[in-house]
Amino acid sequence: MSNKYVYMFTEADKSMKDLLGGKGANLAEMTKLGLPIPQGFTVSTEVCTKYYEDGETLTDEVVSQIDEAIIKLEKINDKKLGDLENPLLVSVRSGAKVSMPGMMDTVLNLGMNDAVVEEFGAKTGMRFALDSYRRFIQMFADVVKGLRKQRFERALDDIKEAKGYDNDLQLTEEDLREVVKIFKELYLDETGGIPFPQDPREQLYEAIKAVFGSWNNERAIIYRRMNDIPGSIGTAVNVQTMVYGNLNDNSGTGVAFTRNPSTGEKGIYGEYLLNAQGEDVVAGIRTPQPITTLQEAMPEVYNQFIEIANRLENHYKDMQDMEFTIENGKLYFLQTRNGKRTAPAALQIAVDLVDEGLLTEEEALLKVEPKNLDQLLHPSFDKEALAAAKIRGNALPASPGAAAGRVYFNAADAAAHKEMGERVILVRLETSPEDIEGMAAAQGILTVRGGMTSHAAVVARGMGTCCVSGCGDLKIADDEKSFTLDGETVNEGDYISLDGSTGNIYLEDIKTVEAKISGNFGKFMAWADKARTLKVRTNADNPRDVANAVKFGAEGVGLCRTEHMFFEEDRIPKIRKMIVSKTVEEREAALAELIPFQKSDFKGMYVELEERPMTVRLLDPPLHEFLPHEDEDIKSLASEMGISFDELKATVEELHEFNPMLGHRGLRLAITYPEIAKMQARAIMEAAIEVKAEKGFNIKPEIMIPLAGAQKELAYVVDIVKETCELVKKEKGSDIEYLVGTMIEIPRAALTADKIAEVAQFFSFGTNDLTQMTFGFSRDDAGGFLGDYYKKGIFESDPFARLDQEGVGQLVRMACEKGRTTRGDLKLGICGEHGGDPSSIDFCHRVGLDYVSCSPFRVPIARLAAAHAAILNR
Ligand code: ADP
Ligand code: MG
Ligand code: MG
Repeated sequence: MSNKYVYMFTEADKSMKDLLGGKGANLAEMTKLGLPIPQGFTVSTEVCTKYYEDGETLTDEVVSQIDEAIIKLEKINDKKLGDLENPLLVSVRSGAKVSMPGMMDTVLNLGMNDAVVEEFGAKTGMRFALDSYRRFIQMFADVVKGLRKQRFERALDDIKEAKGYDNDLQLTEEDLREVVKIFKELYLDETGGIPFPQDPREQLYEAIKAVFGSWNNERAIIYRRMNDIPGSIGTAVNVQTMVYGNLNDNSGTGVAFTRNPSTGEKGIYGEYLLNAQGEDVVAGIRTPQPITTLQEAMPEVYNQFIEIANRLENHYKDMQDMEFTIENGKLYFLQTRNGKRTAPAALQIAVDLVDEGLLTEEEALLKVEPKNLDQLLHPSFDKEALAAAKIRGNALPASPGAAAGRVYFNAADAAAHKEMGERVILVRLETSPEDIEGMAAAQGILTVRGGMTSHAAVVARGMGTCCVSGCGDLKIADDEKSFTLDGETVNEGDYISLDGSTGNIYLEDIKTVEAKISGNFGKFMAWADKARTLKVRTNADNPRDVANAVKFGAEGVGLCRTEHMFFEEDRIPKIRKMIVSKTVEEREAALAELIPFQKSDFKGMYVELEERPMTVRLLDPPLHEFLPHEDEDIKSLASEMGISFDELKATVEELHEFNPMLGHRGLRLAITYPEIAKMQARAIMEAAIEVKAEKGFNIKPEIMIPLAGAQKELAYVVDIVKETCELVKKEKGSDIEYLVGTMIEIPRAALTADKIAEVAQFFSFGTNDLTQMTFGFSRDDAGGFLGDYYKKGIFESDPFARLDQEGVGQLVRMACEKGRTTRGDLKLGICGEHGGDPSSIDFCHRVGLDYVSCSPFRVPIARLAAAHAAILNR
């Protein structure tokens, strides 16, 4: 760590973002470009870290550098902090490397006090000075001290109402004097007797400390987790000379973009307000003017503004989001940054900037966040409708998109009401495989329990359906006809809305808009495909999902979970029969009934895939997951199977495991019941051989054995599979080639990967289980307590959503290296949820995997993330 903690705007530039944050680095860069920037200085992000190390204080060393910077600033402006007639007033602004809502808001007009306001006001205008002072008191109270801002707002509203004003500009000097007086009293009352600080230096230190303090407030932590921002980067603090948009009617403030942030269309887009300060434009107190009208109001200012805006866009080679203030006819820029934009706008801008010759294709790729592509593929809320809606709850954003519909509490009701033409939302404690039909019928799914890799989350992502999971605040009534959330009871048939991208829950019907894919998408994604080296496959288990994924650019199936094929209504009785079979003969007979289903699914998928590869995983979950648990269901299955209720009930109980995730599942099933693996291998091979013959596709099946931990157990199952494959080849007279490989999801398999590779021809990292077993966190239960880890700053992100590169990643890396020493051509992939997560994809690229596999709707995200990884790691 260097000993320089404070940088004047004149001492830095845009390359110093890590140290000075985005706002600070860009203010310095604009200063360097010779633009009209009120001068100031930045207290670096290193001080943020230091602030916490030093026990949430600013050390003498830091304070003295701040003091020196203030002296320099006083010289530059020929003003003095605390001077009565010619005071230096400043803003204190937070600014991390990436812009971060949730951080401390800005404090303006700092340096104002009882004495300054009088003298300064006498010189510049008393109304203006009082207006600045009341703003300062309110911001300081709210932002620095965390006092209740509603009391301040109400006090102001009361005065306006008493006077019959509908707008702040109508407040007279006398009114504002009264406001200041009331605000100071409120401050005293709210702090329990501490008067509003009059010493500008004390005001300044307090405000700077508050910015650093806000880095670890709850909102900021949540925002960082949702956006993959590490807490270690810290925020910087900018202290900047005030310019006064509220000085008079020849002054004002505004915000503008160089292109339209919703559509991407080229051209200035923005708003301003005369005689206003700071956030007045966005606060909605007065209606702002479109920026184009500034051309008439102040033509010279407008022309200068356009000229600078263009210059900034060319300089940063991206659409800019700018803040400006006009003080008595003179224009100042207060901020510029690469503007946030909708996904369609992002693609439009990327394509245009390449056409305009400003960016290369690869540079353009880096301008679009992979996660943003989600928006293109899923419905979203109508912006205005959403702005008017109230968030009533929040849980995990398990599957993106927006959904609104009527609440139903079980799959059958959801499906029935969908049939009747309703939009439905399925609300469940948690979902299970039997809910598939209802999940498919629903616009959105809301669960009380479960994390990012819970059943509901995984299945919903596969279907591209919005899902919010793990909402512990929601209480479903015992009769499952209503739930309560945020103090309100919602009955069956009532409307609610879910945002699967934020996890927000609304208890009202919010208008949604369908996703639209434009021509830019194909063009842009083609650039991504050119840049990336990682292949992208999909996790899919039926022809429809495969077709969808291929449309999104999937290059194969990385994981076909065969058990999903068994959950359909006409199949589940058959698998149940297979499970409760007492003898091998019985089991084989039951399996013989299942084979045709499985085979026809595989055939359908091979047809959709043409020659793209497909990895099929043998049966994985504990068998009891398939069994009925309610007496009534047991009864009906028993009669269907011609056995007694008691007998079947006993079997179900026998299969009960205390710890099913660590129980009789994965290849352990094949060791007990080799006939299951045989049946599945046969179905895969026959399907491949038949489609090959019918369509002429060159198919090379990949059969994957789950949950191996030791070479010997894997070898046993590999032998069974190979024997069957050879048998089928012989029967069919086929010379088809095939691969038999394994999942790496047990730490022991990773540790002994060199041995495992002797019997496995490929590895696919099942990072959901690998994460579960490495941490010892149950993925179905961890959602219940990981929240405390985030709140307490122990974890920054969900290890089931974003790969833990330090621990789990080390196992992946080791397994890759060891596996490849044994078998040089070992194919390596990942099929856990992490396969669709951009930061995890970057890791996969770096360890040299051949492909990632993710749910169909994440395929475009993975393609772009893989391109970013290739470009950034070159
Ligand atoms: P945010 O990051 O939320 O945009 P900012 O620090 O950019 O917060 O500031 C909030 C508002 O205050 C913006 O409208 C900005 O232009 C205005 N502002 C900040 N500093 C100054 C200043 N020195 N003079 C005048 N207005 C300022
Ligand atoms: Mg700003
Ligand atoms: Mg697994």
